[in-house]
Amino acid sequence: MEKIWNKCCQLIEKKVGESTYNLWFKSIKVYSIEEDKAVLIIPNRFYLEWIDNNYPGIIGKSLNEITQRDIQVIFELEKELNLKQLNNNMQNPKIQPQKVMDRPSFLGPRYTFDQFVIGPSNQFAHAAARVVSESPGKVYNPLFIYGDVGLGKTHLVSAIGNRIIETKPNLSIIFVQSEQFTNEVVTAIRHEKMSEFKAKYRNIDVLMIDDVQFIANKTQTQEEFFHTFNALYEMQKQIVISSDRPPKEIGTITDRLKSRFTMGLIADIQPPSEELKVAILHKKAAIENIKLPDDVAFYLASRIRSNIRELEGCLIKLAAHSTLIGSPINLDMSKQVLKDVFYDDDKPITIDFIQKKVCEVFGVKMLDIKAKKRTKELTVPRQVAMFLSKRLTDCSLSDIGKAFGGKDHATVIYACKKVEARAEEDESFNRIVEQLSDKIKY
Ligand code: ADP
Ligand code: MG
Repeated sequence: MEKIWNKCCQLIEKKVGESTYNLWFKSIKVYSIEEDKAVLIIPNRFYLEWIDNNYPGIIGKSLNEITQRDIQVIFELEKELNLKQLNNNMQNPKIQPQKVMDRPSFLGPRYTFDQFVIGPSNQFAHAAARVVSESPGKVYNPLFIYGDVGLGKTHLVSAIGNRIIETKPNLSIIFVQSEQFTNEVVTAIRHEKMSEFKAKYRNIDVLMIDDVQFIANKTQTQEEFFHTFNALYEMQKQIVISSDRPPKEIGTITDRLKSRFTMGLIADIQPPSEELKVAILHKKAAIENIKLPDDVAFYLASRIRSNIRELEGCLIKLAAHSTLIGSPINLDMSKQVLKDVFYDDDKPITIDFIQKKVCEVFGVKMLDIKAKKRTKELTVPRQVAMFLSKRLTDCSLSDIGKAFGGKDHATVIYACKKVEARAEEDESFNRIVEQLSDKIKY
């Protein structure tokens, strides 16, 4: 059992990457694996929700891949288990686990317009999605939404679906990830079930295909999608497509499919502003019943550049931590809990650190750069290090001078001027200095 679970963990880690794995999957324990059922123990509800939202069904799928069986996954919350009893009962499980299913991916019930916060970066895409949900097939067809990962494409596309289900329950909708679509095409061809495939995809009112960039390179899938598209389009059925880039940048997709994508409306979602990030955090916190102080919201928004999924992940992590230790979320706790997630910007940049980085890049020794030695190959790195020390630290000119073998403040000023002048006329030198500066900052 442990062996199967370890294999499964390795597979999941491969799928989601090490840091996500460590954050969200590592603390899941296995309780039992039977013929058709596995019971897993999860620290608390927030982990489950996060996994469910971000990688729906991943645990079940991975277990199935490893065992080649159809295993249903049941989660048990750790809190409700007395761990001692668990250890004693390991051989002889008696506990009736609470049933929380590993939900298959379909329209996330929480991905609605109500829960979508609007800001300048997404208002156009949002407005288009609204219109489409009100009159599917009539106005913008297809609707093509694109934007970077974690900016809300799946949410918005699902919201269209959820809205239509709510207001026009007799319309039939398919929402499909493009990988799944590809699998279905392949299976249909292999088992000569193409007519069933066609019956499924051509007798619907709304087709929503998520992350369409994944069908680039897949000739058969593109071919099938092209025909499905045409059939639906001619019948004025709504098509909604999402992608991480605009049609013209999806490299290996056929031109005729590209031109289909541009027939309707193309709407992009841009990275969120700080205000929007904060607003989304407050919204999520309200929905989850999490008390989120303002300063923490701003802290998270300033640390996570754009990916809203990561922003949400942090919030949930904080909530989980706060539940575990039984005290409310505050700024200090947030910094502590998320220290592995963020680069530590609060750590002041020191002259020593700058010298170290400069030495690495120029291939000289720390000892030399700090010493009085005046050789030619040391001049440039030393001047650059002085320049960056002035730019990136609060140290005074004379302190900086001292750190470089007891030079005076005039030498530091001279060094800075030299570096600035050279950066101005020598682009590649400028780039080296700027890259170094970034490297030290982040
Ligand atoms: P994408 O499909 O673009 O990678 P998702 O739609 O999966 O991104 O969004 C990632 C997470 O961020 C989801 O949990 C979603 O609810 C949330 N999210 C993104 N944009 C917004 C928004 N404007 N308002 C509320 N939540 C958002
Ligand atoms: Mg998505």
